[in-house]
Amino acid sequence: MGNTPKYKALRGMPDTLPEDAEVTRWLEDTARYVFENFGYGEIRTPLLEETEVFTRSIGEDTDIVEKEMYSFTDRGGKNVSLRPEGTAPIIRAYIEHGWHNVSGLTRLYYMGPMFRGERPQKGRLRQFHQIGAEIIGASGPYIDAELIFNLKMVLEELKVDGFTILINSLGCSKDRSEYMKALSEYLEGKSSGLCDNCRRRARTNVLRVLDCKNRDCKKVVSAAPSILGYLCRSCLEYYQQLKKILAEMDIPFKEKSDLVRGLDYYTGTIFEVRHPALGAQDAVAAGGRYDELTEQMGGPSAGATGYAIGVERLLLAVDRKKIPRRPPPVLVIPVDKEYFSHAFSTANQFRARGVSSDIDLTGRSLKGQMRRAGKESRDFVILIGEQEVKEGEVLLKNMREGTQQALSFDEAVKKLKGRDDTYA
Ligand code: ATP
Ligand code: MG
Repeated sequence: MGNTPKYKALRGMPDTLPEDAEVTRWLEDTARYVFENFGYGEIRTPLLEETEVFTRSIGEDTDIVEKEMYSFTDRGGKNVSLRPEGTAPIIRAYIEHGWHNVSGLTRLYYMGPMFRGERPQKGRLRQFHQIGAEIIGASGPYIDAELIFNLKMVLEELKVDGFTILINSLGCSKDRSEYMKALSEYLEGKSSGLCDNCRRRARTNVLRVLDCKNRDCKKVVSAAPSILGYLCRSCLEYYQQLKKILAEMDIPFKEKSDLVRGLDYYTGTIFEVRHPALGAQDAVAAGGRYDELTEQMGGPSAGATGYAIGVERLLLAVDRKKIPRRPPPVLVIPVDKEYFSHAFSTANQFRARGVSSDIDLTGRSLKGQMRRAGKESRDFVILIGEQEVKEGEVLLKNMREGTQQALSFDEAVKKLKGRDDTYA
């Protein structure tokens, strides 16, 4: 076998290995628990959708649609794409299943992989995972406040500390078009300070310039007019009421009037959650209101809002010391080859009784196995020798304390079952 593997995972699409997978599963289970406490139902949409589902909703001149989608023509000649985000498919499903005919709000959560052909870097992948929520059916500051409260609770339950919630309002379409006019005027004559992309965007989709991560562009827009100066009375009142409700709920937030989102469907309230452990990719979650999307996708008008958390960024931000995990399996070791079959059956009986156990099936020596148990930081080892076979006992060795005791099988099960551990 050569040193260079013949096949490697695609760039930006890494494997999730067991330790991260276990943490991820805990994050997902915990998020599920919080969502269900808030009355959300889970939705699982397909990974593949008709391309138009995304181009229509996300916007033709966003980065995602312009250059990041994994699109191809399927066998039937249909243009399809791997989902780059979760909201558009959910709205497609909402309309398709006629949920708008059911009165009241539809609260949905989802979790799963998303695909964007971006430049891979820390916290930015091509296949990444999101945990997200949507509240569809109406608009109003209490709905936004509940959603933001839910996001805060999810992050806290997931043991993410020290995050900051940023909020802003993009107003209604009338406000936005007036603001875009003002922003275009402001940018006139400043195009030499902008990157190539933004020079073009200043003409095609000027709000996107505010979202550019290029340092020079950031400098240019730092003195740009604020959208808040262009909100109509009812949008301004809505925004002020939201801030008042958030304050009453003791939800700390910061206003950031140049906050915009990377997708075109947002209207009104938008927000982002940042975390200092993330470096340049500091947004762990983001979302906002998208009141025009259902109509844009051919359905009835229905207010809606939602957010998505990036799971890979969560993995960088969570405090693993606070996350419970299953302790490493108990290693059952025969002290000599002749006790192997008894040890083998003991390990399997432990497994059947719910004690996570492991046994070496490759014929390692007793010494080799003890060394391995130390290396793998096993807490407990079970030794099986002549005495144990004769008396129907097991010898339980506590590797941390260096002690050992002879126990009946049932006593050992009682002692080893339901132990708790955390990622130290
Ligand atoms: P960013 O500004 O960081 O590119 P975004 O505006 O594209 O994020 P959304 O599309 O709103 O983000 O997605 C919500 C969250 O999903 C982000 O806050 C982030 O945590 C995560 N996310 C988005 N793109 C990626 C990616 N390529 N790799 C990993 N996580 C991602
Ligand atoms: Mg992005």
